[in-house]
Amino acid sequence: MINRLLKNLDASSCNFLAAHTIARELEAAGFTPLRQEDAWDVKPGGRHYVVKNDSAVFAFIVGKGNPATDGFRIISAHSDSPCFKIKPNAEIYGDGGVVSLNVEKYGGGILYTWFDRPLSISGRVMTAGSDALHPRTHLVDLRRPVAFIPHLAIHFNRAVNEGNPLSVQKDMKPVVGYFSNEQLEDFKKRGGIVKVLIAEEIGIRPEEIIDYELCLYPAEPATIAGADGQYFQSARIDDLSMAFAGLEALVGEADCECDFTRVLAVFDNEETGSGTKQGAASPVLRDLLERLTALRGGGREEFLRAIANTFMISADDAHAWHPNYNEKSDPTNHPVIGGGPVVKINANCKYMTDAQGAAVFRTLCEQAGVKCQYFVNHSDVVGGSTLGNILTSQLDIKGVDMGNAIWAMHSARETAGVSDQEDTVKVFRKFFS
Ligand code: ZN
Repeated sequence: MINRLLKNLDASSCNFLAAHTIARELEAAGFTPLRQEDAWDVKPGGRHYVVKNDSAVFAFIVGKGNPATDGFRIISAHSDSPCFKIKPNAEIYGDGGVVSLNVEKYGGGILYTWFDRPLSISGRVMTAGSDALHPRTHLVDLRRPVAFIPHLAIHFNRAVNEGNPLSVQKDMKPVVGYFSNEQLEDFKKRGGIVKVLIAEEIGIRPEEIIDYELCLYPAEPATIAGADGQYFQSARIDDLSMAFAGLEALVGEADCECDFTRVLAVFDNEETGSGTKQGAASPVLRDLLERLTALRGGGREEFLRAIANTFMISADDAHAWHPNYNEKSDPTNHPVIGGGPVVKINANCKYMTDAQGAAVFRTLCEQAGVKCQYFVNHSDVVGGSTLGNILTSQLDIKGVDMGNAIWAMHSARETAGVSDQEDTVKVFRKFFS
């Protein structure tokens, strides 16, 4: 299972590729795609999925029971991770034919971790479609190191190890190479090196690219680490480890006949506040649940009853106790890597967890034979937020915020525990069976 996760992490180099990888796995497990704009025909036991904006996925297995009384069981996660997005007109020309790229930070990454690493480019590009309102989408992943962000030598900044603020605009521009005058002229004529590289990969002409959303991603593959192989390391563990745990559970329990409808909701744009049409603050999940209730003959009242009978596990990774920074952790509630899935609690309701939600999750852990831990912020630390509390502004559902304990959240390379991943899948399978 862990090897499948590592492979899927490598294939999911950005939000779009993550949605694509999830969709591919769902199709292999007999799920059929539905489009929001079409009429749907869904039957009890039916396995389907919807991709929204190429970057969010909502998969479901229709329950055999009465939607109003059996409700939904939902696992939610997010497809996006902090990275650098390539701006339009990206090329910046320097001495000796050097070309670097103008980029914008996406989300709150640890900038230092991005220096001096091999970087590649992935995302989606648009070409002309059937008419102006329907451009054609191409997913693209160069899958080879084409760029890197060289750090300034220590000789030019002796204080670099004593705290060194960074400017994204100045310090984080990736270099893509140096080229002859003829090459540079050719690139400029064809729309710039980014479009040339991407067009070559897709097999189109650069002039055909109308627009793009491309990001840089760390090109090193995910790997097992630690003397006993206890850890795994990769970019984008937050939150693809949870998205793939949810997928593993949904696919693994797909043959189980359940009265409730099971839903895996992988939203985009959590790292920027979820405020997009494919994000958790949008009505996308609520409308899907209402639609599924209506397709089973239920009206508004049945939908509201279904919502009252629904439980959601909002799965997003947590911070592990760090051996170098004991003072950052709460004295009695600090999860460790290898200690099992983590229930996240916040007195000011940044997490949706309450005693009821925690009790449900802890009981599921017990039934699955899995240990469970708590994460609560050190009382002088503000901490982050996640999907659960944002979703409850759209859906008044019961639930829990949980995740696995990881190190270096939002680094270009995060670390998590192999046994935690396996344990979380066991709990998710219990929830989906
Ligand atoms: Zn996250």
